[in-house]
Amino acid sequence: MQQYDVIIIGAGPAGLAAALYSARSKLKTLYIEKLGTGGQAATTDEIENYPGFTHGITGPDLSKQMEQQAQQFDAERLAANVQSIELDGIYRIVKTNKDDFRTKTVIIASGAAPKLLGVPGELEFRARGVSYCATCDAAFYEGANIMVVGGGDSAVEEACYLTKFAKKVILTHRRGSLRAAKIVQERALANTKLTFMWNTVLQEIKGGDVVEKVILKNVLTGQINEMPIDGIFIYVGIEPNTDFVQNIIDITEQGYIPTDDYMRTNVAGIYAVGDVRDKLLRQVVTAVGDGATAAYHAEKYIEDNFPEERGNQYVNLNLGDKRMSKKLIEITKDNFAEEIKESPLPVLLDFWGPKCMPCLGLMPTVEELAETYDGKMKFCKLNTAENRPMAIQFKIMSIPTLLFFKNGEVIARLQGARESEEIEEKIKAIID
Ligand code: NAP
Repeated sequence: MQQYDVIIIGAGPAGLAAALYSARSKLKTLYIEKLGTGGQAATTDEIENYPGFTHGITGPDLSKQMEQQAQQFDAERLAANVQSIELDGIYRIVKTNKDDFRTKTVIIASGAAPKLLGVPGELEFRARGVSYCATCDAAFYEGANIMVVGGGDSAVEEACYLTKFAKKVILTHRRGSLRAAKIVQERALANTKLTFMWNTVLQEIKGGDVVEKVILKNVLTGQINEMPIDGIFIYVGIEPNTDFVQNIIDITEQGYIPTDDYMRTNVAGIYAVGDVRDKLLRQVVTAVGDGATAAYHAEKYIEDNFPEERGNQYVNLNLGDKRMSKKLIEITKDNFAEEIKESPLPVLLDFWGPKCMPCLGLMPTVEELAETYDGKMKFCKLNTAENRPMAIQFKIMSIPTLLFFKNGEVIARLQGARESEEIEEKIKAIID
């Protein structure tokens, strides 16, 4: 079994800061990410409260720089889904869908995922008019009428971002005042393309192929209204990703992991950092502080508990090279007919965008599958930012989306960031 000093679960700002500090201390470091680098921050267009960037920085840009910085010190990356953590004496075993790893310490930086609203039609129309990522999908709503649900920082900031694309954005909030920071509120209230619908809840999403209308209820008057709408972006809070640690680590009623000031959980050698931790302020700036603290303490913990192995002799496994093995064919309107329409092999076409971190996270998985199924299926990608008419032609409303072609026709579609097993199942069903 491959062995590490530090395994970090998650590659948001907290995980990447931990990876930077740990790798820079010459600890053998692996960080594991199942979706895209950058976590929730990477789905934010503009981050203006992270010190050092006077004019702000986009979430994807900050995430890319954080990852490059960690990799510069030889932190290794693996695209995999962590299933559990187990104890093996003084070592910890991290089990993933790809391999199991032995490690001296674990830093849990698995972050949080957007909460679902839980109304009829939400799941049915996901990626067909319902989205949770404005930086990924805003461009598909050029000139459209959009509704944003929620009243926190995410809803209000992303509603403002969406006004750059949409004809009109309506922010629906269940109360009469916003939860978002004052400066964010002021900017939103001054935005002429943004209107507010107060004390209103979204009850149902309806449509045909795509979203067409919403049913709304005013919670003060009880009045029900139907409103035509082209797209809905939902930002009603976040849920910590702690399913895989519930058997081993204490968690709060809300699912967050309590730690002490050194980021230690109740299990020795296991730390928790960032949004997954039970804490007051969930921001990029607090996440990176958590990550640095945990990595620093992990180094002391290793020195105290594994004195004979410090500065040791591990072989560099170079997981990075393994996952980037085969490149995908870039599709444009000029080569679509030759590469896809007339392909004798079935084709997987990955619709992606340069600002979409889940897309960039999925790409190495698709590249790995391209290697595995070489000669049985053709693997291609299409940049939606440069080929928007083609994305529209294939009714792409959310990325990443994978389309499967046979004899030039679309025969299957997978929307959203998917795990490798699910994509592989689809591939096998098509080539068998
Ligand atoms: P949040 O702060 O928890 O806000 C969630 C919003 O959704 C609240 O306004 C809430 O209403 C509403 N809501 C919750 N459940 C709902 C339901 N079932 N139906 C309708 N509305 C519902 O979540 P967030 O905006 O995603 O932010 C998460 C964390 O990240 C926060 O700590 C936030 O400060 C931080 N963040 C920071 C920045 C930044 O600093 N630039 C940007 C984004 C996020 P109520 O107000 O009535 O509870």
